[in-house]
Amino acid sequence: VTRSAPAAALRPNQQRLLAVLGRHDRLRRSELALLLDLPKATVAGLVDDLLARGLVIENTPESGSGAGRPARSVSLAGRPPAAGVLVWSTDLLRVAVASLTGRILAERTVPMAPQEEIDGLLDPGLRLLRAAARDADLRIGDLATVVLGVPTPFQRGVGMPVPASPPGGRGHYVGWLRADPATELSKRAGTQATVENDANLGALGEYTFGAGQGLDSLVYLKLGNRSMGAGLIINGRLHRGVTGFAGELAHIQVHNDGVLCVCGGRGCLIHDVGPGLARLVEPAYDGPISFDQMLDLAEQGDPGLRRILGDLGRTIGRPLADLCSMLNPAAIVVDGVLGPAGGYIIEGIREAVTRHAAPTAADAVRILPGTLGAHADLLGAVALARDDQHLPVF
Ligand SMILES: [Zn+2]
Repeated sequence: VTRSAPAAALRPNQQRLLAVLGRHDRLRRSELALLLDLPKATVAGLVDDLLARGLVIENTPESGSGAGRPARSVSLAGRPPAAGVLVWSTDLLRVAVASLTGRILAERTVPMAPQEEIDGLLDPGLRLLRAAARDADLRIGDLATVVLGVPTPFQRGVGMPVPASPPGGRGHYVGWLRADPATELSKRAGTQATVENDANLGALGEYTFGAGQGLDSLVYLKLGNRSMGAGLIINGRLHRGVTGFAGELAHIQVHNDGVLCVCGGRGCLIHDVGPGLARLVEPAYDGPISFDQMLDLAEQGDPGLRRILGDLGRTIGRPLADLCSMLNPAAIVVDGVLGPAGGYIIEGIREAVTRHAAPTAADAVRILPGTLGAHADLLGAVALARDDQHLPVF
């Protein structure tokens, strides 16, 4: 966080103050005192010293509505730290530059099929990130870190924790994710890099900035046209599991002797959804239906769609009910990208949870739509970047 003075010369409380300022555009001394839990006089002293060192600046006072002298807020003197984000979610690549306060400064989205080689993702990804950084008046090397989200289970330093070649497995995992691409990404971006599962990012996003704020625990359900996964927040922390496989809802067994799956198991839930949500609802209509058309039909309150998505909610809700009995979470947060379609799925999940979970757990769990829409995983990457930068959480 420090820019022009050596960090060693700063007292711990000054470093904490700079870290807090790194997450807010501007704060008054009284707000800093509250966030740092320090007396106002102490904060005033810390700020005076940092002003003298040129590490923070005083902003021109906003015209106050109350009586007396308007309080002047302070900001970091340098550019506030920003993160680069690449989230690959089955058929889309979203690229963004965001401040660590959770403001998206620039964003690009392109279609992205699974790529056989790492370059197939990183070449266009870094090109878009460079363009997004330019839009935000930054260079890629200015970014504090770059986070890559991937639509597969993922273990840091290892890659995908799944068998190399399940016999006859149905599904598709890209081979280059059998190693952690963070080193290659870091080398090419010229800054620190981290790779994380996309549903975990969504969970972190809704927990930090969205529907899950202030909750102790939640299950985030990621559900796109061709993606299904879950992220678990337990005691305020992301739970990845011992090999990064936690929350792989798609690979819960729902048919004892169902089709073999790419995960090495068989009869996995994901095969009930098959080639995508839109294809699942298609038989009820005359012609092919795209994902966006499906969302439109939901918006119009289409009864057939309500029935099909309600059934899907009940199917997904069955294993979620067991999870509720086991974990007793405060909430299940459903991917906000689905809009009204998500509402029908939530109705089905609620039914299944009420029916199959232990009543105490079922009564306690709130089932909520995400409030961040398509930005949940981008903002989750920002939350992860904060952790990786060891910025204290206030
Ligand atoms: Zn599976």
